[in-house]
Amino acid sequence: MTDSTWDAIVVGAGPAGSAAAFALASAGRRTLVLERRTSVDFKFGELLPPHTAPLVKRFGLDLSGLIELHARARGVVSVWGDAEVREQDFLFNPYGDGVRLDRPRFDAALRERAIEVGATVVTGARVVDVSPSRDGGVEPELVAVAVEVDGLVQLVSAAHVIDCSGRSAVLARMLGSPRIDFDPLFASARRFVGPTASVDRDPFLRIESVPDGWLYTLVVPSGERMVVFHTDHDLDADLDSALAQSVMVGPILDERGFVPVGRVRASPAGGAWRTPLIARGVLAAGDAVLAFDPLASRGIFGALTTGFGAADAVVATADGDDGAIDRYIADVEATTTEYRSGHRRMYASEQRFSDRPFWARRLTDASAH
Ligand SMILES: Cc1cc2nc3c(=O)[nH]c(=O)nc-3n(C[C@H](O)[C@H](O)[C@H](O)COP(=O)(O)OP(=O)(O)OC[C@H]3O[C@@H](n4cnc5c(N)ncnc54)[C@H](O)[C@@H]3O)c2cc1C
Repeated sequence: MTDSTWDAIVVGAGPAGSAAAFALASAGRRTLVLERRTSVDFKFGELLPPHTAPLVKRFGLDLSGLIELHARARGVVSVWGDAEVREQDFLFNPYGDGVRLDRPRFDAALRERAIEVGATVVTGARVVDVSPSRDGGVEPELVAVAVEVDGLVQLVSAAHVIDCSGRSAVLARMLGSPRIDFDPLFASARRFVGPTASVDRDPFLRIESVPDGWLYTLVVPSGERMVVFHTDHDLDADLDSALAQSVMVGPILDERGFVPVGRVRASPAGGAWRTPLIARGVLAAGDAVLAFDPLASRGIFGALTTGFGAADAVVATADGDDGAIDRYIADVEATTTEYRSGHRRMYASEQRFSDRPFWARRLTDASAH
């Protein structure tokens, strides 16, 4: 990182950060990406739904190529609202099938595309402080970012900085931008392996509601099954009890001889929103601006949309379009409103467990609107 002044700085190299960096660098902007991690061996989010096709196309990638490298996702099988097993095949989707992702590999491929179009990505670079332009920064019009690399803190600056640091939203938190949490959803995940690697080629995402939350399972390209349980963090429920109550996911694991491996991984998973303009010169994108309940299956879609959207707004603003950032803000707000009403409808369609706190809370939320 020899230069200290850039046209734009992107914090975080997940899908949102790679989309932002790709758009900025493609538009000829000198772009620095700062990513805290040097490698990733696990990440939540294994399904790339078909409607993501236009967004991955902007990277010069396509879903059929990704299916070759990862694995095909044929649709969604659900037990939700009643005991019937329903199959929704992507056969009828205009974009075709989705992708079951090796997630670290997918994120690395997007990052690689950003580098290929000219972005500079520094890994092992943890952002530790920020001072926006109104506070002076290095020069009055620049946002200064302090970043720790190999134990040394350096200052870098740019007219525009995009916070793509995921749910941790480092810049937003440092700048005191409040987050609005829509619900206290929490996910616990475990990998399961069968007796042989080829035991299960199930190409469907399987979703099931249970009395204290809901489960999903998906076979990832390695042949392992990811099993994820979602409940509220204050409820006394866990993955094992959810599997014992399940009529689809639990029996699949038992019948196919799957056993758990590795530790349980946990993550906040509720919907959350904050204003996209955190401070002058600082925008947020991806989970840092709008995080979705995984039930919506639109986290990566949303991260790519807002990553591109924030970067396009930065490029347009620098080119003299004074309304570009306001339009980005309006787009995020419209998506948030639309997501919240769809989310309420989805939870309201499960009434069997309405006497349990997890569902009662969501039904109250739905009836209040
Ligand atoms: C249980 C669960 C299941 C999910 N399943 C799906 C799914 O099937 N399909 C789907 O589309 N989405 C799914 N998602 C959501 C999806 O994974 C996220 O929406 C997506 O990863 C958000 O991308 P992002 O780029 O905004 O953030 P992230 O992918 O979180 O990337 C943020 C990056 O910022 C870096 N960073 C953080 N702090 C700093 C710092 N101080 N300095 C520098 N870098 C920093 C991090 O290391 C990270 O690489 C799921 C989420 C959960 C919790």
